[in-house]
Amino acid sequence: MDAALADMKAASKAADVIEIRFDYVDAPEPKAFLDAATKPLIGTHRPVREGGRYEGDEEQRIDLLRRAAALGFDYIDTELDSAERIGEHGEAKLIVSYHNFERMPDDLEAVHARIVDAGADVAKLAVMATDICDNLRMFDLLRAAEIPTIGLCMGEEGVISRILGPGMGSLLSFGTLDTGKESAPGQVPIGDMRELYRVNEIDGETRLYGVIANPVAHSMSPAIHNAAFRAKGINAVYLPLKVADVRRFVQEFKRLDMQGYSVTIPHKVDVMDVMDEVDQFVRDIGAMNTVVNRDGRLCGYNTDCTGALRAIESVMGGDAPLQDKHVVMLGAGGTSRAIGYGVKARGGRLTILNRTVAKAERLAGEIGCEWGPLDRLPKLQMDVLLNTTSVGMHPKMEDTPAPAELLREGMVVFDAVYNPMETRLLREAAERGCVTVSGVDMFVNQAVAQFELWTGGDAPEGLMREVVIKRLSGR
Ligand code: NAP
Repeated sequence: MDAALADMKAASKAADVIEIRFDYVDAPEPKAFLDAATKPLIGTHRPVREGGRYEGDEEQRIDLLRRAAALGFDYIDTELDSAERIGEHGEAKLIVSYHNFERMPDDLEAVHARIVDAGADVAKLAVMATDICDNLRMFDLLRAAEIPTIGLCMGEEGVISRILGPGMGSLLSFGTLDTGKESAPGQVPIGDMRELYRVNEIDGETRLYGVIANPVAHSMSPAIHNAAFRAKGINAVYLPLKVADVRRFVQEFKRLDMQGYSVTIPHKVDVMDVMDEVDQFVRDIGAMNTVVNRDGRLCGYNTDCTGALRAIESVMGGDAPLQDKHVVMLGAGGTSRAIGYGVKARGGRLTILNRTVAKAERLAGEIGCEWGPLDRLPKLQMDVLLNTTSVGMHPKMEDTPAPAELLREGMVVFDAVYNPMETRLLREAAERGCVTVSGVDMFVNQAVAQFELWTGGDAPEGLMREVVIKRLSGR
């Protein structure tokens, strides 16, 4: 009881309504909660069969809920299979809930109708999303519901239902007090619900953006873009979208009129097929990371390219800083393609060196530049060295793709790796008087370019950089 009361006090600072899960408390005392409450209370005593922890006598379980209602709880929540056993519940509103921890049932709408028939004041449906498109069906149900309804999808695929639900008509959404205190999978900490996603401010005018990825939980993009929208006073929210089938996702989510997406691993190539417009330069690169919705037409861009080039050119003087410079790029993977095409377009003289030489040859053939194996590096005179391999990345941070003795004073050295923020390559380059550009600079600049494409305005670059550095340094 002491711990639960302390949690209730903490939750009262952020939540509008507080759910007391009696099944998580030893010997729960409803009156003690009411005496200490400063917010409306929901009393829930969930049995194991519905995903809760209560394993005792059913009559005692129901009796505690009846007592909570009689004492003055604002809501009591019981399951569809036991709703009719509650009987008289005084002033308290009766939430009748249904849970499915495996999937969204085919008869979701019929379940809702059964809840209404059971005499619910509020219907609650919580089902496991196995695909992000399950959220759309829940949103349809919320919009059509004739009694107050709480509808949410559980799991990582369902996170957006917790964020967008209230804007779609859900009576409320559940947040958890803190990471690790979730009472259902996919719950978002309440601090993030309020500060990051601004759930209470989402309305019919809110523009929707998000990152298409799989997995998505590690993505820094929601933190960066939501902070940027907030700082600029833009009514927009940026969502984490765990997407398995990108074609189906893009088609189905047209119904939500999403205004833009970031796209990352593993969808950067496949997503191009479902765009209405992709310009030739992005087609040449063969991958994109940004979608802009222009009056219903989805247009694809590659800001990895723009972001890296902006970062590199910003440390070089003049109008066309890369023109005629000898640029040596280590790597022939996805990032190399984006940056290589960019360097070539800016007039740089490019040489691609890669561990798998055939890949360097192929990419160089497409771009139209020199190529070779990694051991050619010592023989080359260069103005700019770009590392686009993953060498030096956490956890192998003592690796470096280029020996220190090849780094000459005044050379520009760029490393796409951003974890760690300062790689061994960049540290040694700085020690030798090179001008260094980090993967963090590229990452921030690609996000800045996305923000500009979506809003047509200036991005709060300093703030976005701060968010990235904070996340990368684990603060
Ligand atoms: P990718 O397509 O898998 O390409 C990886 C490249 O690294 C290939 O050229 C590969 O050579 C080379 N490589 C891997 N291990 C190597 C080793 N032990 N020795 C020599 N070469 C090695 O990867 P990617 O998506 O382009 O990502 C590359 C790096 O860029 C990653 O560290 C990633 O985090 C970073 N990145 C940064 C940003 C940013 O915004 N800063 C954005 C995207 C990516 P082979 O062809 O021989 O396998």
